[in-house]
Amino acid sequence: MNESRWTIAQALMRGRTQIEAAVPDTPLLDAQLLLMHVLGCDRTTLFTWPEHMLTPVQADSYFALVARRIDGHPVAHLTGLREFWSLPLAVNPSTLIPRPDTEVLVAQALEKVERPDATVLELGTGTGAIALALQSEQPNWEITAVDYVEDAVALARQNAQSLGFSQVNILQSDWFSAIPRNHRFHLIVSNPPYLASDDVHLKQGDVRFEPHSALVAEDSGLADLIHIARESRDFLTEGGWLMLEHGAEQGSELREVLQKLGYVQIYTALDYANLERVTCA
Ligand code: GLN
Repeated sequence: MNESRWTIAQALMRGRTQIEAAVPDTPLLDAQLLLMHVLGCDRTTLFTWPEHMLTPVQADSYFALVARRIDGHPVAHLTGLREFWSLPLAVNPSTLIPRPDTEVLVAQALEKVERPDATVLELGTGTGAIALALQSEQPNWEITAVDYVEDAVALARQNAQSLGFSQVNILQSDWFSAIPRNHRFHLIVSNPPYLASDDVHLKQGDVRFEPHSALVAEDSGLADLIHIARESRDFLTEGGWLMLEHGAEQGSELREVLQKLGYVQIYTALDYANLERVTCA
């Protein structure tokens, strides 16, 4: 008989308990995502068929993933997938895993930039999350997304293809290096590295498995934010917007820098935890 001794409900309970002891953040969600991945089903199926028996192969695969989660590996690396702005994005260890906080940046961009034909540049696109989310909402925006890391460029292109947004122009570039000097954008967005190298978060949780180059910047995390702010002035249209994600403690310093650089209409939007997260100018 091709049945293990595990029903869906039992496997979820067991996985959740095991994960909870080691990585207590979201153990039930983690167990559900891993089981959905192994069974190739959606969340509704888990609730609809709690008595459904796993095959021995499914049970083995699932508990092997649970064990890797217990070792600290991010769920997104185990499933190869992370949802952002309702888009299922392929993820791998060469980029940052898209975070819900970054949806604040997408929301600000959609709110402030009203032209249907806007030209947009995303710097440090990683999985392509921000650029693809914007394209999904504004099909006529002309979007360019760049990343310095070759594997990230490949991953972003793969996501653009598989989600049907192959019109997004994805390039390898060290910030603005591959952008022609005469190009002007109505919107420049970035979620650059902004953690300080001694940030305690780097030693905890999922970030340990993410690339340092996507997380850490010099000058207490401000170096890339400031570099982008300075350079962007030469690439924005008159009245164009710059929108930068940053750490909760970096808002006031960044606003000051932007003001000195000649930006106007400077404001900071809050994330879901009411922390300063995205500064626009
Ligand atoms: N928000 C991320 C974190 O705290 C950092 C992302 C970044 O540096 N761009 O893990």
